[in-house]
This record gives sequence, C-alpha cells and structure tokens, in this order.
Amino acid sequence: MAGTPISYEQLSLIRALRGETIRDDTIVRRDAVGHDRVLSVSSAPVRDGEGNVIAAVNFFRDVTSEQKAAKLFRYLGQRLGVSLDPAAEMRVLADACVDTGGIATAGVFLRALDGASMELVGAHHYPADVLPLIQRLSAETPSIAVDAWRSGRPQVMQGLEDLAGPERALSRALAERMGFRSAMALPLLARGHVVGVLMLSANPPDAFTSEDFTLYKEAASRTAVAVDNALLYQTANRTAAELDAIINAIADGVWVSNSTGHLLRVNQAAMDLMGIPRERAPEAEGTAARDRLDAACPPIIRAPLARALEGETGTDYEEQLPDSSPTMQLRTSYAPITHDPTGTIVGAVAVSRDVSRLRALERMRDDFLGIVAHELRTPLTSLLGFIQVARRKGIHVAGSHSAAAAQAESPESARGEDLLIRMERQALRLNRLVGDLLDLVRLQKGVLEYRRTDADVAGAIAEAVYEQQAAHPERTIDLSVPQEPLPAYIDPDRIGQVVANLLTNALKSSRAEESVSVEVGRSPAGGGHPEEAIVRVRDAGPGIPMESQPHVFEQFYRVPGVDVQSGPGIGLGVGLYVAYEVVKHHDGRMWVEGGPGEGSTFIFTVPLTREAPDARASG
Ligand code: ADP
Repeated sequence: MAGTPISYEQLSLIRALRGETIRDDTIVRRDAVGHDRVLSVSSAPVRDGEGNVIAAVNFFRDVTSEQKAAKLFRYLGQRLGVSLDPAAEMRVLADACVDTGGIATAGVFLRALDGASMELVGAHHYPADVLPLIQRLSAETPSIAVDAWRSGRPQVMQGLEDLAGPERALSRALAERMGFRSAMALPLLARGHVVGVLMLSANPPDAFTSEDFTLYKEAASRTAVAVDNALLYQTANRTAAELDAIINAIADGVWVSNSTGHLLRVNQAAMDLMGIPRERAPEAEGTAARDRLDAACPPIIRAPLARALEGETGTDYEEQLPDSSPTMQLRTSYAPITHDPTGTIVGAVAVSRDVSRLRALERMRDDFLGIVAHELRTPLTSLLGFIQVARRKGIHVAGSHSAAAAQAESPESARGEDLLIRMERQALRLNRLVGDLLDLVRLQKGVLEYRRTDADVAGAIAEAVYEQQAAHPERTIDLSVPQEPLPAYIDPDRIGQVVANLLTNALKSSRAEESVSVEVGRSPAGGGHPEEAIVRVRDAGPGIPMESQPHVFEQFYRVPGVDVQSGPGIGLGVGLYVAYEVVKHHDGRMWVEGGPGEGSTFIFTVPLTREAPDARASG
C-alpha cells in the first residue's frame, strides 16, 4: 500500500492511542537556526472514566546539552588524572571534545615551562601542512589561542568577520584554509595561571551555542586541575632529581631524615661511609630499602641527626667511625629542616666529612712543634745560664753592679757587659717565642697546666706590667688599678702572661714615643655575667680592621698590612690565641675594640668568683 511516510511523532501518537506508553525515546531534529537538537519523547494514552482511550499525548524535552555534558564528563572522569603527564592530560580534553561530536578540529596547547610560549601537544583533524604553523605559539603569534593565553579569558569567533585585524591574522588564515567558521579558544586556569589553551572549531558559522560554551569551559576548568597536578608532580620530580644530582656530587656524606629520624635520602658518599656496596645502593623509595638504610646508619650519624631534630644546628660533631680500618674520624654538620613559617621541624640533615687525614696532619704538626720547641728550649736554657754566669763574672771583675759604673773603670769590660746584656735580651726573646710554641702545643693537646688559687687579679696584672716596664725601660706604660684588691680564683702567672702578651703587641704596634695604658676595673654583675674584673690594654697604633677583628684570636693569624711599629720583630701569631684560651679557661671573655686610625683596645674579663668548684679544682 503506497502513501506518505508517517513521522515519528505520528507513529508514537498512534502507538499511544493503541494504549501503549513510551518513555524517553530520543530523536534528533534540526532547529530553526540549523543546530541539531536531541529530543527525549514520551507518549501516553488519555483514558475516559471507563478506561477507554480517548486521546494520546506526546511530551518532548530537549536533552541535547544534558547528553553532551554527560558524555563529555564521563569521558573526562574516566581518563583525567591517570597519566601525571601534563601533555597527556591535555590530550584527554581534546579527545573528549571530539568524542562529543560536532567538532571540526580540536587542538590543545600546553604553556612551556619558561612561560614564554605555548606548545601544541594534541591535535585532531588538522591538515598536515597546518601543524608546523601552530606547533609553537609565541606571545606575539596573531591567534585567538594566544589571546586566550595572554588574557586568561575565553575567545569566541562566530564567523570570519570576528577574525578581522592583524592580531588575529593566523587564525583567519587557518579558518580560510580549513573552512571552519566557528571557533573557541578556552584558557585552562589553575591557581590563577593559564596552564594551557583548548582550541575548538566547527564548520558552520554560529555553530557553538551558549550551552556548548558553558560546557567546554567547564571541561577546560576540570582538566586544568589535572594538568596543574601533573605539572606540580613533574616539578617535584625534577626538583628531586636535581637535589639527587647535587647531593650525589657532594664528596661529603649527606644524610636526610624525616621528623621521626627515618632516613629519606642519602648520597653515594654516605653509602660508602656506611659500607653499602655501590651496586646494591638502595633506592630512597620503598620501605624495605629504607629499613635497610636505617639499620646501616651508624650512631655517630644518628646522634647529630637527633640533635638537629631537637632544633640544634652545629658544625662540630666529631667522632671516630667504629670498626673503621684504618680508623676514620668524621666531622659532622647538622641542621633541622623546617618547612612552614611556624618553624615546625619536619626533618634533619647531616653532612659528614672524613677528617682523618687532616687530624693526622694536625697531630704531626703538633708533635713536630712540640719536639722543635722542646729541643730549642734545652740549649736555650743553657745559653741563658751561661750568659748570666758570664755577666756575674764580668760584674765581679769590674767590681760594680752597673754597666755605667763598669765603663768608668774599664771601657773593655763595659763593652763586654753591653754585649752580654744584648745577648741576654735576644735569648730571652727566643725563650718567649719557644714558650709561646710550647703553650700552643699544650693547649692543642689539652695539657696546658693551670695553678689556680685565690689571688688578687689587680696584683697579678700590676706585676706583669712592672715586668714589661722593666724589659722596655724606654717606653711609657700607664697603669691604673683600683685601690682595693680584686680577689678571684685564678692562675696569677697565666693572667700575667695574658697581660704580657697584650702589652708586647701594644708596644710593638705603636711608635716608641707613644705610651700604652693598662686599666683594671671592676664590672658589676649583669647581662648574664657575674661580677668581673675588667682589663683594658690600649695603644695608639694603627688599630685592627673590622674584617680582621673576628680572626685575631685564631692561631697563626696575622692582620694583613699591619706592620711592626717598634721594638722586636713579628711574632708567631700565637700570643692572642693563647691569651684567649687562658681567659676562656677562667670563664672570662676577651675581645678587641677600635678600628683603623683609632688604636686598639684589647679587653678581657675575669669573673670575681672565689670558691673553687670541685669540677675544675686542678684546672
Ligand atoms: P704575634 O705573635 O704575631 O703578635 P698575636 O696572636 O699576638 O701574634 O697577634 C696576632 C696578630 O694580631 C698580629 O700579628 C697583629 O697583626 C695583630 N695585632 C695584635 N695586637 C695588635 C695591636 N695591639 N694592634 C694592631 N694589631 C695587632
């Protein structure tokens, strides 16, 4: 039977009139502006009181965007966040858009790490000759994708007329070449930054509805989160790789622990120190490997790490590595790792250096110095003895006690006496230098002797000043001491030695006609210090440059460019070091004041405590 074909709508009504109910059938219809719409149709019979069908109704619902959205987000939901590769995440978005239909081309651009360009990381349906043109877009490329990137706002074209102007020239050329008339460039925004751009095109003009626009924008923003995560992961990986490369390049052993002391990371040198063979080097990841690391970590590394976890920072943890052959001495620096502004300690780092060779050399140096000093002192003592005997004999021959008086009797014997005096002075100077060396060696070995007793600090200092004055009769040394004594528990000879060292420096640093002064006072308790004797040795010499002041108390240090102004020549660079250590031993402090052109004032203090605590009874 021939006739006109009936429409879906008629058919469904006929079925409903027959008593059938149809739910959510879908049909596609083109609307007035030419967009295909997906309609959901339901049909039902209308019955009278007796149940007879008297009419039928069709219900239509436009489910175009609902379906598109469901499809798009199902696709994204299944595939986003899987790869941890930013480019792959971007491609998921392009694939998802193409999958929803109605798209002529889809391209995704990822912002380059340096932020200076965008790279095409996924493309659908672009002709091969177009791809090189859009492979890398710079900030100046005249394209709506770049507009979206630069402005952070979506760009839409509904027809060629939207692509007028030189700033969109590339997009226009592509539209003409490929024939699309609608396009969208959607920026992917994460944490305020554009991480990429989604480019979609469709052939007819006005192809994208406002619902499409909302839909793809939402898809882009969901993808942005995944891309951002992948970027963060990539950055974290790169940072970790850089850190690995850096710490592995360090020749010292590096240990990094978490807040509970478990090792997270060690370098090759650390593994060498722990005796873990290179080929079996455990990875930082993996609990088994970490347990193995923890087990291998020696106590001499555990201890500084534990200190660091307590918030301490130090550079001086030194011990011998047990069972090492030849014995290995490790010096370890340690510091806590803090993350947030509250200073919460999240881990610790320790860096260990093998200082065995250094320590061995130091021991050799000290032994050598000790032997030299000792071997020099013996003949020197004899020499001084001979000089004194000779002087006594000369004086006896002349029958007088002074060179001047001797000269009156015999010019010959006077010249002899003068020579002996000079010899004695030089021999005494040599003796002092050797004494400095011996003190240094004893300090290093921790065997410098102290004979501490309850004594008057002022008296000990005055004594030392008189001796220096006697040794340098041509110089003026002003001494000022308080009336009352300053009793303290000290070694008077060592305190005298400190003053002698400071005075020798002051005398040789200033010109012969300039006086030096020694001032002793009492300083009340305060600022964390007990009541102290305070001693100032002042000269009018060149002063010590600020940058050298922290170093003058180091052994062998000499201030560059400071010349001896008068008296005997330069010393060994030991005097101030010994003086500092002696003062420190007395629980005092020592420092220097005055810069270039102001002269120098060396100051030290000695606590005025009289009781002899048991712990240091013998010094
Ligand atoms: P030295 O035996 O060489 O004098 P010291 O340890 O006593 O060694 O002093 C270290 C260095 O500090 C000296 O070489 C000198 O350069 C500098 N110095 C010490 N005292 C003074 C001072 N009063 N004025 C200027 N420079 C000084």
